[in-house]
Amino acid sequence: MQTFIYTAHPVRVVFGTDAWSTLKDEAGLLGVRKVLVLCTPRQRALAQQAVDALAERGVGIYDQAVMHVPVATIRNAQEAVRRERADCIVALGGGSTIGLAKALAIESGLPILAVPSTYSGSEMTSIYGITEDGLKKTGKDARALPRTVIYDPSLTLKLPFDISVVSGMNAIAHAAEGLYAQEGNPVLALMAEEGVRAMANGLRQLGQNANSLAARSACLYGAWLCGMVLAGAGMALHHKLCHTVAGSFDLPHAQTHSIILPHAMAYNASAAPEAMQRIARALGQETVPAARALYDLAQSLGAPMALQDIGMRESDLDRAADIAIATPYWNPRPIEHHGIRTLLQAAFEGRRPT
Ligand code: NAD
Repeated sequence: MQTFIYTAHPVRVVFGTDAWSTLKDEAGLLGVRKVLVLCTPRQRALAQQAVDALAERGVGIYDQAVMHVPVATIRNAQEAVRRERADCIVALGGGSTIGLAKALAIESGLPILAVPSTYSGSEMTSIYGITEDGLKKTGKDARALPRTVIYDPSLTLKLPFDISVVSGMNAIAHAAEGLYAQEGNPVLALMAEEGVRAMANGLRQLGQNANSLAARSACLYGAWLCGMVLAGAGMALHHKLCHTVAGSFDLPHAQTHSIILPHAMAYNASAAPEAMQRIARALGQETVPAARALYDLAQSLGAPMALQDIGMRESDLDRAADIAIATPYWNPRPIEHHGIRTLLQAAFEGRRPT
């Protein structure tokens, strides 16, 4: 007999090619009148298109979103919200831009309309992160959950292939870990397996043709499912480890996820056999251990495979292991220093799990 709790997260989702053209109507449905569009400097031109499409509702752009949501950026963006008297925020971009919108919404209560352009899945969660004095604090707040999400695969066509791959592996990590996380449940398990399947198939198709809208659509659909799993099931070893390693040693977020995922799965394999079966099945590799199938997928797509290739120093591995075990958290297999240090060494070298 199963025992579980399921909490639905109330987000309106509009999905499809050209879904982007509904932006003005969707803002209208929220009953808002003055919309500020957030983006990174790189996505300014797209943000201008959003303001134009919003017509009289589009009051301005704040284009300085950066990775990890520093407090100084939040302060500047708050000033823009006040100046424009905005009553709604459109977050147009990846997890960094959506993260900034979340920080603003927590402080102001303004509704977020998210238009994701990567596969981070952040748009489906109430999880936020804010960086102050070099330390990233994370938490959950219902006000951080977007009210509406518009998924338009055509907006992801310009996401470079290498970033698409690691962003897709980041999404797969949400689903893979959600299959054994403490708050998992049967509904989320269905979403997780389908999310891994859609993302892996989409990424393989992108490998053949990076301009395929069908492939982009599969990836974005997978990102949505994986984001919902992260929102509902929570996290365990893999996400905590990535947070420690990327945060403390200033490594890129999605690349770190992509490299550590197979090793975290190998660590947890014996304690979560059903989850591993589902992951391997979703990858079409039922006879191969899930950890190895994930490693092979990432490698076949040209992803970075070793922490040493993205800036980690071997001399920092001991400290990384110390930090990773310093705060206790739930995981299907107990967290112990020797095992975590061995995992980090394998990820540092980029070894294929056995
Ligand atoms: P990102 O938002 O930092 O984007 C990476 C780069 O890609 C940026 O320069 C951006 O301008 C560019 N870009 C984005 N979309 C593009 C497109 N379609 N075409 C061309 N360029 C594009 O990267 P990310 O991996 O999406 O987000 C990482 C951040 O999100 C991290 O801070 C992470 O902690 C956070 N995150 C949060 C959650 C959550 O639930 N709270 C989940 C996942 C990630």
